[in-house]
Amino acid sequence: MTGAESGPVEDRRDSWEGPVPVPTGANSEFWAATLEGELVHQHCEECGTAQLYPRAVCTDCGAVDPPFEASSGVGEVYTYTVCHVPGEPGFGDRTPYVVAAVDLEEGPRLLALVDCDPDRVEIGMALEVTFWQVSDEAALPVFVPQ
Ligand SMILES: [Zn+2]
Repeated sequence: MTGAESGPVEDRRDSWEGPVPVPTGANSEFWAATLEGELVHQHCEECGTAQLYPRAVCTDCGAVDPPFEASSGVGEVYTYTVCHVPGEPGFGDRTPYVVAAVDLEEGPRLLALVDCDPDRVEIGMALEVTFWQVSDEAALPVFVPQ
């Protein structure tokens, strides 16, 4: 990792009622980085594939334990949905909320909350990452308009 700062971390441990990630195996390094405000992805040294979510092997060539590197945290909306019915426990008082597939400028695509007016979101909208710390072990990447 480069140590580059991807985005600010906001402590939401006292108010968060949604699901909490449990770091394990290949994703432990990803979640540890989120606590430092750093969004990381795996970048295969064998074939150059960039991937998220973290996996034990490269999805393209099968290389084991592709190393992590920092992302700028900048991306754009590939597609999105506005949730009017909460999809998870603890989201009842958040509706309507936006979930988007976000294409990072380094290549990987991830699903994440977008913290903005649902009427404002559109495909191709430029986003940057922030983090909501929801436990002592994990901060959720949450995107906001740039
Ligand atoms: Zn590879």
